[in-house]
Amino acid sequence: MITNDMFCPISGNLFDALCAINKNGKGIAFVVNAEYQLEGIITDGDVRNLLLNGKSLQDKLEDNINRSYVSAGESDSYSDVLNNFNAVIKIIPVLDHNKKVVNYYEFNKSIHIPIAQPHLTGNELNYLLDAFISTWISSNGKYITDFENLFSNYCGANYGVAVSNGTVALELALETLEIGCGDEVIVPDLTFAATINAVLHVGATPVIVDIDPESWCMDPEEVKKAISMKTKAIIPVHLYGQPCDMESITRIAHKHNICIIEDCAEAHGAEFKEKKVGSFGDIGCFSFFGNKVITTGEGGMCITSSKKLYDKMRLLRDHGMSTKHKYFHEIVGHNFRMTNLQAAIGVAQIESIDECLLWRKKLEDKYFEKLHNLNNIILQSNHLLYRKKIAWLVSILVTDGKRDDYIEKLKNIGIDTRPFFIPLSKMNLYRQYMFSNKESSRISEMGINLPTTFDIKDSDIEKIADIFYSHEKL
Ligand SMILES: *Cc1c(COP(=O)(O)O)cnc(C)c1O
Repeated sequence: MITNDMFCPISGNLFDALCAINKNGKGIAFVVNAEYQLEGIITDGDVRNLLLNGKSLQDKLEDNINRSYVSAGESDSYSDVLNNFNAVIKIIPVLDHNKKVVNYYEFNKSIHIPIAQPHLTGNELNYLLDAFISTWISSNGKYITDFENLFSNYCGANYGVAVSNGTVALELALETLEIGCGDEVIVPDLTFAATINAVLHVGATPVIVDIDPESWCMDPEEVKKAISMKTKAIIPVHLYGQPCDMESITRIAHKHNICIIEDCAEAHGAEFKEKKVGSFGDIGCFSFFGNKVITTGEGGMCITSSKKLYDKMRLLRDHGMSTKHKYFHEIVGHNFRMTNLQAAIGVAQIESIDECLLWRKKLEDKYFEKLHNLNNIILQSNHLLYRKKIAWLVSILVTDGKRDDYIEKLKNIGIDTRPFFIPLSKMNLYRQYMFSNKESSRISEMGINLPTTFDIKDSDIEKIADIFYSHEKL
């Protein structure tokens, strides 16, 4: 409720205002007439500026207040006025129909909603401690094999090779399939740059193709057109939890005898025709970075059902050193290993992956329920034929051209969002590899990822939806 020290009579001077501000501790005073009708506002910063500009503390408030203040009406709720808070405006008076100050809204700084957050409430700490106490903290230990078995099994593949992160998983897959100099690899334009960087790191030439505007994933028709004599592999990226059209992509790959490496970093557990992503290609690559569906802090995995590819990946992961003959190196390898500590966290995470996908789905449903009526919002497609997407980061498109304004407004009220990835072909670094990019540019400019964390409340979702709604009222 509003206290008397928020007010200062219009008959007073700057000194009176300073006293009120000092007493209420809010950095602002409402300057009112005898009927408590708001004449204007004055902040501590205003007083400081006035003094620096030669005014004195005895100068009348009448001539020195801000009369073009932002106010709210009695029927406005906190979320109605959220939009008006910014770097300067932190307090908004509420006026009745007579302009009498009846209350005020204060920006709540303590609200901070991150875009993503690891959820570590199962056996993570138990297993981590167990691995620690066992002293197997390096890259040998039971959690590594457990994690590899559990995760590959979950995805419907025979083998898993745990690695240090999702990017080297892609590199390991490419090297294992002997893709390098002179080979072309088809990648989608809309993805995280790790996809194309991995191709460049093995010395191959990426060919960037456009996305399909419904799924936001690689468009198989564009893949067809981009195939050349040099094409050795396709990397479909299951973007923002949405599976690619794996039927068409597999058909194309078989026809031309080229490999498929799936980038599943954003789609753990997603399905196409009731088969999990990662199990379609020669090798499926996953990331367990902190913001992914399940996490090991940093980490990744390659899964495959080919014993031959599995053996080769293990060899390459561990310096190319013979498993039978210590210090005898068969190929030029890497150290791409994951530690037993990370794998311990991974094992706990996989125990609750179904639960995790469920709360994500429910959260996405709640967002979509609040947003689906807005004519400036397009929701990510949830029911494309044969596909069962998962909710990684809740993703929407804003069609009124004001995407960046909304991001800024949400940031001002402590809500973290992300714009979609910048299409690879838009960056100088990768432009030369562009084959087609019409839809990806259009979609990318409209896209926002919304906070997707376990503890997000219904009222938070409402607040976020309100930012998009308020535009409609204008
Ligand atoms: C996160 C991500 C990666 C890379 O994973 P890291 O573990 O961070 O190296 C690769 N591809 C896509 C699409 C990603 O989102």
